[in-house]
Amino acid sequence: MNIIRFLHMGKIHCGALENGVIKFIEGNIFDTYFVTEKTVDLSEVKILPPCEPSKIVCVGLNYKDHQLEMNDFADEFPKLFIKPSTAVIAHGDSIVRPVGVNRVDYEAELAVVIGKKARNIPKGKANDYILGYTCFNDVTAREIQKQDGQWTRSKSFDTFAPLGPYTVTGIDPSNLDIRLLLNGEVKQSSNTKNLIWGIDFLVEEISKIMTLLPGDVISTGTPAGCGEIKDGDTVSVEIEKVGILTNYLTGGV
Ligand code: MG
Repeated sequence: MNIIRFLHMGKIHCGALENGVIKFIEGNIFDTYFVTEKTVDLSEVKILPPCEPSKIVCVGLNYKDHQLEMNDFADEFPKLFIKPSTAVIAHGDSIVRPVGVNRVDYEAELAVVIGKKARNIPKGKANDYILGYTCFNDVTAREIQKQDGQWTRSKSFDTFAPLGPYTVTGIDPSNLDIRLLLNGEVKQSSNTKNLIWGIDFLVEEISKIMTLLPGDVISTGTPAGCGEIKDGDTVSVEIEKVGILTNYLTGGV
């Protein structure tokens, strides 16, 4: 099922999206809910981010080819960092290039949406705590990342966390094609089978560090081919069975 969060007639709802039609959901998608027969066309709603994470736990350097292009390696343990919830935007929203920041990069990533409070989850049990999967663009001010030597400032600007367009449940995330398209041209192309650290391992290890809450997001890292987005560009993260997340870059004023 594709669980979409949206604004309709001034109210926030969740729904099940199929063939451009949304069936309204009653209840809490992280607890008990049911899909009603009440519908609205996708074209009549404003798509919202699929969840409201308290934190986005990102994994750096989780594809070998990306480690090589960055000349940065994390072979012992995944390089983790957190993006703030205030950076999240939805499918169709604009990424705003901050004033004074020259270079803004895209990073196509598969994101995990946590479904249940998770702490110390043992190996093999991650699936019980996952609601589903969505697309993520780990937007990065690359020059600032290199200048600072750590990643908080470069990754945390408002609008630097496009997420969506919806959460897909009931799929196997271990063998999905992932691509990034810049103005329609393929810039990144890989498959989630190339992840160095898989989702089971990430949930196990991250939940040893911090409690994961319903709606929290783990983003699994980007493959090779990162590059720059320029003002006016259209950037899409496309993941097999998961969807297409499209955003635009505008210069800040
Ligand atoms: Mg990344």
